[in-house]
Order: sequence, then structure tokens, then C-alpha cells
Amino acid sequence: MKKPPIIWTNALLFALTLSATIILIPYREISHGFELIEWITFVVLAFASGLSITAGYHRLWSHKTYKAHWSARFVFALGGALALQNSALHWSSDHRVHHKHVDDNEKDPYSANMGFWYSHIGWMLREYHAHRYHDYKNVRDLQNDKIVMWQHHHYLTLALLMNIGLPIFLGWLNGDIASMLLMAGLLRLVVVHHCTFFINSLAHIWGSQPYTDKNTARDNGFLALLTYGEGYHNFHHIFENDYRNGIKWWHYDPTKWLINLLAWCRLAHGLRVSPQERIDTAALQMQLKRTQNNVARLQNADELLDKLQSEYEELKTHLNAYYHAKKQLLDAKKKQLMVKDLSGKVKELKLKLLEQQKQWKLLTQAYA
Ligand SMILES: [Zn+2]
Ligand SMILES: [Zn+2]
Repeated sequence: MKKPPIIWTNALLFALTLSATIILIPYREISHGFELIEWITFVVLAFASGLSITAGYHRLWSHKTYKAHWSARFVFALGGALALQNSALHWSSDHRVHHKHVDDNEKDPYSANMGFWYSHIGWMLREYHAHRYHDYKNVRDLQNDKIVMWQHHHYLTLALLMNIGLPIFLGWLNGDIASMLLMAGLLRLVVVHHCTFFINSLAHIWGSQPYTDKNTARDNGFLALLTYGEGYHNFHHIFENDYRNGIKWWHYDPTKWLINLLAWCRLAHGLRVSPQERIDTAALQMQLKRTQNNVARLQNADELLDKLQSEYEELKTHLNAYYHAKKQLLDAKKKQLMVKDLSGKVKELKLKLLEQQKQWKLLTQAYA
């Protein structure tokens, strides 16, 4: 099959910035050296642009997992121009298609089934999607956001100002324009590009599938470190309306922390979370499915499968009972009713549930 024509602006941008980084950064380090302030600016701008993509483009605009004050949206629009990943409108349109048609080689703009290279960067290098005219019909809601449209219409100017103008200004302040351009402009751009591209490539290839195996998305704690917390991608693809990606307290999810911080400063509100009962149920179903597959290969499979099924049913009953009682308690508290009996019941059910979960863990791990 003949490959579609190359998109030269993208190909040159990615090739030149990467090769310039590989050559110029070590050369400058050896011949001149970088100052601490230049390294600090690199880190600050890497987080500013990366988080504008993850908290702004992704969780705010693509998925509407929370609402943000105009000042936060304005900063995300500037950070998105710094990240050089197209306008928020265009990015969100692509991303909504990715979720709707995930892994479909025809429709998903960065389908992981096309391999690492394609989902990482290849999809942007050729006219693979020339047939898919961007009419932005799937982002009509975003067209009402004045900041989104302002950024969309002035994207090139903003991108040049942020990627060249800003480092020149910072370098002028520090008395070394060339070093700042290399560090805060070039190196930062290339690092943030590839770290965020990992979400489309590696986060669909490498890691576990605790919540669903209906798509290629993976959970990967190490990748979360490189992707501003977006490494919990298996969770994200099933609970895409949740403002969190890492849901456990020990999960590294700076995007979630930033949204929490914005909410604390009253710059964000309406943070959406998925009901814990649905999350637990999804995880439980995956554990059942995986263990069933493992057990099916064994000699006494029928007996074990029956046992597994009955343990699963029992645990699910306990789970439902616990969440039901918890909801009752919450409702009663809202109505300011006496809740002593109810909270005792919730505690009791929780203990039973924990006991049941322990047994389930032992059983499923035995056949892992
Ligand atoms: Zn998403
Ligand atoms: Zn994805």
C-alpha cells in the first residue's frame, strides 16, 4: 500500500528540534556550561507546558472533568501554545475521537494497534487522516469558550511568542540569551513533546489492565512519572469523566494535585469523580475474568471455576450491601437524622467486606 504524503512542517519540526537537542545541548554544556537558574527554568517551563496539556487540554477541555475560572484557562491556553501540540480545540477534537474509536485503525487518530512508532509520532508525520476533515463538530461546546477560540485563532503567533519570545526575554534577564533558548526553549520542548506522546504510545502498550481489557490502555506507575500522572491510562479509558487518573493516595498524579490546588484557590469547581462502587466492581470483574482464564487451563478446572464464581458472587453481594448502607448513612446525615445505628452498620459491613476481600485476594492470587 502506498504511504500517504509526508507533512513536511511536522516532520521538519520534530526532526530538527530533536537533532538540534542531541547536538547543541551537550556541545553547549561542554563548551560553556549551563547555570542552575537555566536548569530551574527548564523544569518550571516543562511542568507549566506539560500540565497545561494534561490538566487543560486533556482533563478540562477534552473530557470536561471539572470547570475552571477564566484565569486558569488563560494560563492553560498559553501553556498549550508553549507545548506546541496544536490548539486546544484541535487537540480535544482528536482526543475525543481517540476515546470514541479507541484502537480502531481507521478512525482512532493515534491507534495503538498501528504500533509504537505510529501512535507515538508517526500519525503526525503523514497525511493519514486527510480524509477526516476537521469540522470540529465534536467540540461544539468548546467553541463557546472565548479563550479556546482566541487561542485557536492566534495559535501560531502565541506558539512563537511562548517558544522563542519567552526564552529570549528570560535569557536577556539572566544575561545569556543563547543558553536560555537552548534550555528553556529547545530541550524543554523536545522533552515535553516525547513525554506527552508516551501517553498515546507506551500507555497503550506497557502496563497492567486492572479495570478493563476492552481496549489497549494500560496502567503504569513508572509512566505516570514521565507523563504528569497520565500513566494510569487503563483507569482513564473506562472512567474518562473522572478528574483523577491516579486514584490511590500513593499514585503520582500531579495533574490531579494541580486541579485540587486550583479548587482550593476557588479557581476550579465541579470536580467529577466516578462512584467508588463502579470502580471496585470493574476491578473485581477483571480479577474474575483473569483468574477464570488461568484456572480454565488446570485439570480440576470445573470445580475451581464453581468455587471462584461463588466467592465472586458473595464478595459482590457484600460490596453492594456496604455501598448501599454507606449511601443510606450519607442521605440520613444530609437530613440531619440520627445516624448512630446506621454508622454502626456501615462499620460492620466494611469489616465483613474487608474479610471477604482478603479471601478473594488469596484465591485469585493462588491462580495468578
Ligand atoms: Zn483522555
Ligand atoms: Zn488513550
